[in-house]
Amino acid sequence: MGCTATTVASAMRAVAVVVAEHRDELIRLDREIGDGDHGENMTRGFTALAAKLDGDVPASPGAVLRLAATTLISTVGGAAGPLYGTAFLRAATSVGDAAAIDGPAVAAALRAALEGVVARGKAEVGDKTMVDALTPAVAAAESAAASGAGVADVLRAAADAAELGADSTVPMVARKGRASYLGERSAGHLDPGARSTSLLLRTFAGRAR
Ligand code: ADP
Ligand code: MG
Repeated sequence: MGCTATTVASAMRAVAVVVAEHRDELIRLDREIGDGDHGENMTRGFTALAAKLDGDVPASPGAVLRLAATTLISTVGGAAGPLYGTAFLRAATSVGDAAAIDGPAVAAALRAALEGVVARGKAEVGDKTMVDALTPAVAAAESAAASGAGVADVLRAAADAAELGADSTVPMVARKGRASYLGERSAGHLDPGARSTSLLLRTFAGRAR
C-alpha cells in the first residue's frame, strides 16, 4: 500500500486551497522582508496546477509531481517558482514511475527535493530560507521511515519539523534571496518561503493515505 496518483493529485488540490487561504499571510510576511509577492505567486501557481488536475489525473505519483514542477516553473515566478519547481522535479525523478509510493519513497523524494533546492539556490541552514524548513523535515521524514512509518506518519513528522524549522528563521539574518538586501533588518521576521514549505508539508500530511 501507499499513495497513488489520485491521492497525490488530491493533496495538490488541497494545497491550492490552503495556499489561497494563507495568501494574505504570505503576502504580509514577504512584505516585511521582501517584495510582497509570495502569497500571490504561490496562489497563482497552485491554482493553475489544480485546474490542470481537474482534467485527467496523470498515471503515476511521479507524473503528478512532474506536472506540479512544470506548472510551478511556468506560473509562480520570483525566486520561489524555480526553487519549488526544481524540488518537485527532483521528487518526481526520485519516485520514478512507481504506481504507489510508501514511507521510504516519500522520505527519499523529500531528500531529493531538498538537494534540488540547494543545488539551485545554494542556501544553507541558517540563511533564512525555505531550506531552514525543508532540511529538518527531511531528517524527520527519514527517521520516521527508518522506524517503519507509513506515508501519513512520515509526512506528519516532516510537517512537525518544518514548522519548527520555519519558526527558527525568525531571529535569523537573511543571507540568500531578496531578504538578504535588508541585512540585520531582516531579523525578527518569519521567512515566507519557510512558512509556505511548512504549509505544503502539513497539507500533504493531512491528505496522505
Ligand atoms: P522573490 O524573492 O523573488 O520575490 P518569492 O517572494 O516568491 O520570490 O519567494 C521568496 C522566498 O524564496 C524566500 O522567503 C525564501 O524562502 C526563498 N528563497 C529565496 N532565495 C532562496 C535561495 N537562494 N535558496 C532557497 N530559498 C530561497
Ligand atoms: Mg517576493
